Amino acid sequence: MSTPSGLDLAGTIGGANASSQKGLIHLVGNGLSFDKALLFMYGPFLSNAFYTPKTNAINITFGAIFLLGLDRSKCSEETVLAKLGFVLGHEVTHGFDKQGVHFDKTGNINVDGIISTEDMKNFSDLNIKAEAIYQDQEVLPGLAQDPEITITEDVADTGGLAFMEELGKEKTDFDWKLFYHEIASGLGSKITRNLFVTGQLNNVHPFGRVRCNVLLTNSPLFQDTFNFKEGDGMYQSKDSQIEIW
Ligand SMILES: [Zn+2]
Repeated sequence: MSTPSGLDLAGTIGGANASSQKGLIHLVGNGLSFDKALLFMYGPFLSNAFYTPKTNAINITFGAIFLLGLDRSKCSEETVLAKLGFVLGHEVTHGFDKQGVHFDKTGNINVDGIISTEDMKNFSDLNIKAEAIYQDQEVLPGLAQDPEITITEDVADTGGLAFMEELGKEKTDFDWKLFYHEIASGLGSKITRNLFVTGQLNNVHPFGRVRCNVLLTNSPLFQDTFNFKEGDGMYQSKDSQIEIW
């Protein structure tokens, strides 16, 4: 597929990304804070959420809140936790991922980390284990992202899921199967090989089946909910699962 400019779809998306980066630089250069400039660029009705360590702030657009479960009359408790709750838990965890752990609450950098030396050592070891479970996981046959690039998003996902599982445990008659189906429908997606290689291979977010399946198989509660056994496609032994936050 090509466009009037002669670019194919991947080229057009790349051009649009470059253009939005220029717009962002322009807004920040004219005095808008980075957070506000990003929110301005996305616009209130686009769905997005992000954490900025320099301001220790979670930013979430109205579009994301609306899409992820503002209308409680149409959403089950499970859906709200799996969609909106998961995103909020993910963004909070960014404050304590490999990058966030070096920023204090006022946004100042602490090269040694904001937790004790012993905790930093344990934290570092757990991040290495987290990278290992994402290592060589293929989004498409023969195509795997580098977990050294995706590690902060991987860890934010495990934190977001753990947060919501704790809240789910406090509910009576919580439908865990529905909850995990809603998590999966929010994270899973499909893509062509060309678009993945040109636009997503080096993205900091793990993509599609990897983002969804690695996260869920790592959860003991997910394993128990579906009663997976050794040999099942989504089985993961408890001794290879990691819990950071
Ligand atoms: Zn994130």
